[in-house]
Amino acid sequence: MVELKSAGESIMSQLFAGDVYNSSVYLKRCFPEIRSSIVTAIGQDNLSNKMLKCFESEDINTHFVFRHDNKAPGMYLIETDETGERSFTYWRSDAAARKIVDFLDAYTLAQLSSEEMLFFSGISLAVIEKRSRESFWLKLKTLKDAGVKIVFDPNYRARLWQSEDEAKCQFENAFDLADIALPGVEDLSALYGINSAEDVIEFLKLFGIQEVVVKNGPESVVTFDGDKYLSHHITPVADVVDTTSAGDAFNGVYLGARLSGKTITDAVQLGALAAGTVIQHTGAIAPYAAFKNAMAETYL
Ligand code: ADP
Repeated sequence: MVELKSAGESIMSQLFAGDVYNSSVYLKRCFPEIRSSIVTAIGQDNLSNKMLKCFESEDINTHFVFRHDNKAPGMYLIETDETGERSFTYWRSDAAARKIVDFLDAYTLAQLSSEEMLFFSGISLAVIEKRSRESFWLKLKTLKDAGVKIVFDPNYRARLWQSEDEAKCQFENAFDLADIALPGVEDLSALYGINSAEDVIEFLKLFGIQEVVVKNGPESVVTFDGDKYLSHHITPVADVVDTTSAGDAFNGVYLGARLSGKTITDAVQLGALAAGTVIQHTGAIAPYAAFKNAMAETYL
């Protein structure tokens, strides 16, 4: 999405962000050898051109970025009141990205079938138009049957759904297909009243998901590998500036690490380091040099 933020009186700064995009950025920054493609739809307008350039500047493959004839990207405005509280206003109901399923024809699906992994979130599900949902699930099943690992983060944003039941129904389709789930306790607490990482795992076990990684802010990350539970200590960050995209950074780096053959334990440590770094900066995307420096120590 296009992000607008006040940058002083009468000045507005304009960036690009979105949960799947944020994850892709952090994956590439830590694992440049992995090809990471974004699957979305943009328009023919100038902002869409800039968005495409932004993806390319982060070294994200844009082969699956489609151009809708007459829609434009969704947009949101972040405002901060005098107490520092942020509020968001969205214009996304007519966004080009809502049409993405229309672009996933047989040829595109065949290309995607040879990819290793496909990641989407609860926000992706809310964005896809209702009329396309059935088609989306069939297409996702085609990819899964072709051997693509399906990864789902049930990011829940109540205002994007008409009812909790509608969200639950879509999330449960995703849980049924997912090979890896990366839930936050908060999301499942809001929807299902599940309040601990352990209970999140018990709940997701019912869907037969092989790898579950439960995030819980500064609390321990709890994982399940189909057999064993592990609790991974997180060192709380003392000077949290902005928690935007903590979960996204974690997801991108965790998945990059797993694709690189690292163990769940090592992948959690890298994901947590990335997330802990991102929350020490404002906005979804931390400055490149600061992020790389913080991660570099671990790679040495
Ligand atoms: P989300 O952004 O999805 O709400 P969380 O708030 O659960 O995600 O945080 C995701 C990850 O970010 C956590 O698992 C942890 O690794 C890291 N994190 C979040 N808050 C803190 C914190 N205060 N100190 C250190 N790490 C944190």
